[in-house]
Amino acid sequence: MAETGGASTCVVAGERIARYGFPDGHPFGPDRHDAFWRELVAGGLDQRVLQLAPRRASRAELEMFHDPGYVDFVAARSAAGDGLLDGGDTPAFKGVFEAACDVVGASLVAAQAVMEGRARRGFVPIAGLHHAGRAHAAGFCVFNDIGVVVEMLKREHGLSRIAYVDIDAHHGDGVFYAFEDDPALIVADAHEDGRFLYPGTGAANEIGTGAAVGSKLNLPLPPGAGDDEFLAAWPVIESHLERHAPEFVILQCGADSLAGDPITHLGLTEDAHAHAAKQLCAMADRHAAGRILAFGGGGYNRRNIARAWTRVVQAFVEAA
Ligand SMILES: [Zn+2]
Repeated sequence: MAETGGASTCVVAGERIARYGFPDGHPFGPDRHDAFWRELVAGGLDQRVLQLAPRRASRAELEMFHDPGYVDFVAARSAAGDGLLDGGDTPAFKGVFEAACDVVGASLVAAQAVMEGRARRGFVPIAGLHHAGRAHAAGFCVFNDIGVVVEMLKREHGLSRIAYVDIDAHHGDGVFYAFEDDPALIVADAHEDGRFLYPGTGAANEIGTGAAVGSKLNLPLPPGAGDDEFLAAWPVIESHLERHAPEFVILQCGADSLAGDPITHLGLTEDAHAHAAKQLCAMADRHAAGRILAFGGGGYNRRNIARAWTRVVQAFVEAA
């Protein structure tokens, strides 16, 4: 994909990450990337961003977050091309290992572009695989690109206050529990109440453990909650983050929190995603030299994917 200069926002997209999707009518199908890209082009936003190509993450990069034995397990299942990677949601297919490595690599490309100052903000559509744990797949997520990026920012750049905001309908359990006792990751996660939706976690009393108590905020929303409820909760998220003055901001902007998603029950519109993106850009400007990344996350209604993600990119471009 050609690079265009002078843009404040980079978008890492292309065939390599489009291939991360499950076959046979699975809701996380490989057509999600194109649904986003067509909408981006239709609005002319592709011409206003720095387009970067994904790359494949190395094994050493994966192992900044993942257990080596789990990496071996995924590689073996991918070569065999059948079976499951978890209890039932995440099937193996031939090449799933490489596709999952490309998603991690795409997120690293965006993170490195922002840390090197080549872009102020970055977006990756097929990324934000927030259910994968250090040693397991879960909920359509094989490798946790967010976890790898957080570890990279800590180890290679010495960051100690990284904000993670998750507005996907599902609780970001793979990120949350991996860093539950780590005060370097400041979490604010608004999601459909776990009593009604997978993965069932993210209660309001989960606030972090040990040295990290108070660094994590969970905001369960009732089924059917819409923009009014989201906007009412937003100041709580913002004041939580503001207290920690983050040096880097990550937004997982899953589109499955929009009304009409086939597997969840929230009722947001893309205005909520645009609001979150705009407000977080301002926060990043105040504390983090503008550094913010957004990852597409979930979303199984193709129209919602297209609208929510392009509104996030638009907010990033217009915040310049
Ligand atoms: Zn989700």
